[in-house]
Amino acid sequence: MRNPATLEQIAELPVASAAEVAAAATRARKAQRLWQAKSFAERAKLLYRFRDLLIDEQEQLADIVTAESGKPRSEVYGNELFYVCDVIGFWAKNAEKFLKAKKIRPHLFMFKAKKVISAQYPLGVIGIISPWNFPLVLTAGDAVPALMAGNAVLIKPSELTPLTALFVTALAQKAGFPDDLLQTIIGAAETGQALIDHVDMIAFTGSVEVGKLVAQRAAERLIPVSLELGGKDPAIVLKDADMERAANACVWGALMNSGQVCTSIERIYVEEPVYETFVAKVVERVRALRQGASQEEVELGSMSSEEQFKKVKAQVDDAIAKGAKALTGGRANPNFRGFFYEPTVLVEVNHDMAVARDETFGPIIPIIKVRDADEAIRMANDSRYGLDACIFTRDKQRAARMVDQINTGTVCINDGLVNYIIPDTPMGGVKDSGFGRRHGKEGIRKYCRQKTIVIDRFGLKSDFPWFPASRKKTEQMRRLITVLWRSGWKNKLRSPSRAR
Ligand code: NAD
Repeated sequence: MRNPATLEQIAELPVASAAEVAAAATRARKAQRLWQAKSFAERAKLLYRFRDLLIDEQEQLADIVTAESGKPRSEVYGNELFYVCDVIGFWAKNAEKFLKAKKIRPHLFMFKAKKVISAQYPLGVIGIISPWNFPLVLTAGDAVPALMAGNAVLIKPSELTPLTALFVTALAQKAGFPDDLLQTIIGAAETGQALIDHVDMIAFTGSVEVGKLVAQRAAERLIPVSLELGGKDPAIVLKDADMERAANACVWGALMNSGQVCTSIERIYVEEPVYETFVAKVVERVRALRQGASQEEVELGSMSSEEQFKKVKAQVDDAIAKGAKALTGGRANPNFRGFFYEPTVLVEVNHDMAVARDETFGPIIPIIKVRDADEAIRMANDSRYGLDACIFTRDKQRAARMVDQINTGTVCINDGLVNYIIPDTPMGGVKDSGFGRRHGKEGIRKYCRQKTIVIDRFGLKSDFPWFPASRKKTEQMRRLITVLWRSGWKNKLRSPSRAR
């Protein structure tokens, strides 16, 4: 492994074999049985201790995250540690409420003789397979609800950023979690596939292509999967928008973490009358940004890998070859050895260019002029992805109508990127952006199996539909069906045989 900002070698780790993955799952299963017996309050207590350790060890944590990802230190605190500390409190407080067994009142009078309960049980061992863009959020952050639900967790972090997950599991051990309850498994695709063979559910975050392979493997065992995949999130700026807010939000939304965010704004559609003003504001803000090494006071770090750097470069080169213009950047930053790509504002972009169609995952802001809101919606929906979208306008009613028309899992109005960090509300995609939700009650119930319990209340010797069958019973049932469900008040009083 090397630091993508400095290209220094930082670690070499042994890859877990299939047999080692199987053994880890067996140990996790043992630990899970003890963990499931603990109350929500006991689980929460350990998570709070874990959070204290994360805060105490924040300097070392920031060193590790920046070294393996190339992101600035400010982003480790602002985006990674802040989120994980917040969600620990959120799940610790709310898990019981979301998972508490609920009494269900049957709607039909005949079933009032039954007491019905819907309960949630932990699935067992959860496998979390993570990408490299948020080494803390997408490992520890996703493990917290799974643990609060009573599961053991095996994290398979990206092969590019495994050190943060290793550090986190060591801290969990120090906080007093049962041995083997939370483990980190090191490896790449093969290890990920082996993990799917031994766990009870896979929470996958990553690319569409790998997401499909994960779903295929999981289908062989019929275990549930949640797939949080890629995005090509559009922003729409209408002529009545607050231009200052729209420009600030779009620059942050497109360039945070150097654009390596699943919900990055990756294409901006701007109504014609405000196009020039908006572009000028964006360019001014992007020119003021500082790029550099993790320890410095900078807004942008390096790309997290050479592969990602090449992908971004190829998309920009393709766009420029097809007629786009780079108003800033458009090249690697010559001041650094590592994988730094300059923040790039692209105009004269169209949907024939990869930069407008394919996920970029880089510091690129393609801006496209549109006639009106309808054209913007049409172009926004012209994508295989459907993760998040942003609309900038002062007209709330119009925004509400546009929300109905946009085909994405989440929509931000006069905002960007913020939905991910509000754990109270479900977050996830449609179309090629995957299925399953993180956050909200959906975000913890996915780690559970739902069980329905029906209890007879009156203790009669026999219920009406039970054996033996008789003509009389059948006739009564026919009458009942007609009375209950045949439309028209007259027909309610007539049996089907008499109606003939
Ligand atoms: P990736 O799909 O290449 O890898 C993701 C993880 O899957 C890694 O841990 C990798 O080792 C593992 N893996 C690879 N092949 C596998 C296989 N055949 N079976 C099992 N596991 C396998 O993704 P990446 O390049 O690490 O991350 C970038 C992608 O992640 C982008 O597409 C981005 O949009 C997406 N992402 C999505 C979200 C979201 O919430 N929707 C969040 C962050 C990143």
